[in-house]
Amino acid sequence: MLNIPEFEVVKQEQNEYYYRFTVERKELPYMCTNCGWIKSEHDKAEDVFRVYQIKERTVSDLPIHSKAIRIVIRHRRFKCPACKGTFYEWLDSVDRNDKVIKRLKEYIQLLALKIPFTNIADEYSISHTTVKRYFEEYVEEKDEDRYFVAPRVLGIDEAHLNKKMRGVFTDTENFKLLEIARDNTKKTVKEVIQSMDNFQDIEVATIDMAAGYKYAIQELIPKCVIVVDKFHVVQYAQKALNAIRVKIKKDLPKEKRRFLTKDRWVLLGNAEDLEFKDIVRRNEWFDRYPLLKQAYWLKEGIRNVYKANSKEEALERYAKWESEISKEFKEFKEIRRTFNNLQRRNLQLL
Ligand SMILES: [Zn+2]
Repeated sequence: MLNIPEFEVVKQEQNEYYYRFTVERKELPYMCTNCGWIKSEHDKAEDVFRVYQIKERTVSDLPIHSKAIRIVIRHRRFKCPACKGTFYEWLDSVDRNDKVIKRLKEYIQLLALKIPFTNIADEYSISHTTVKRYFEEYVEEKDEDRYFVAPRVLGIDEAHLNKKMRGVFTDTENFKLLEIARDNTKKTVKEVIQSMDNFQDIEVATIDMAAGYKYAIQELIPKCVIVVDKFHVVQYAQKALNAIRVKIKKDLPKEKRRFLTKDRWVLLGNAEDLEFKDIVRRNEWFDRYPLLKQAYWLKEGIRNVYKANSKEEALERYAKWESEISKEFKEFKEIRRTFNNLQRRNLQLL
């Protein structure tokens, strides 16, 4: 189940929220990392690495069946017969000071190209500074092997790095980082695109709906289809719902605010992930505050637009969605404006 070949699982526990595996490395160390001594068949029988101490170290891995994974590594420290020093065994699947398995770290680094650090931090229960550190490590590694051939599908995102908003350029189809620009202005975006070989061949660009640099793409590659990233649109809808939640909360007596404060995830999360008891609670609030109910289903509705199987179906769903917005919903205006702009210019959704 765990599928990390270097480890043997010695204990497995689970509860409602997580699986916990206690593991040990199967093999003994090959070499002393202090002095470089390697055990050979000519050495005396007593000249072996002996366990000196075991330290438990807990790390996370990718979730299984949507439950969090905790791995307790019984990390062994050995005594070397040659130098008499001690050393911790080398682990293949975890980097020295990390709290996550390498494969989760790599996954987080790729996600960080697309999703705000804070959302990732939430999802995997790590701090956003850790996400940022992993991402910066990734950027540094990539710095040397950047390639500048234009991709078929170019993604442009924004990331807040070193106190500055920067443009992050990715090959969306191949999930590859191309470039991190010094800022995200139209001028810089233009320069980066022009520096790519055969940039005229870029067929699709995916961008944030609020981005000012979309005109840069239109000027350089008029035939390029601009696509507004699903993630960003859904995020806007969540923000709109959240603004309405806060507005309703303001007028409530303190003792009635609990649901809207502490249990706000019931509203902001995905409807299909809710348990029955949460649905009941949510619906009680909907009875009391019809505006909240309306905003909630608009948020879910925009997610539904993206679940369509074809462009036609998506546009149909969008038209229906738009017709359901009442005038007092200033909060959803930004989404409407973007979609309508997109349609006018024959742009697409992804
Ligand atoms: Zn040694």
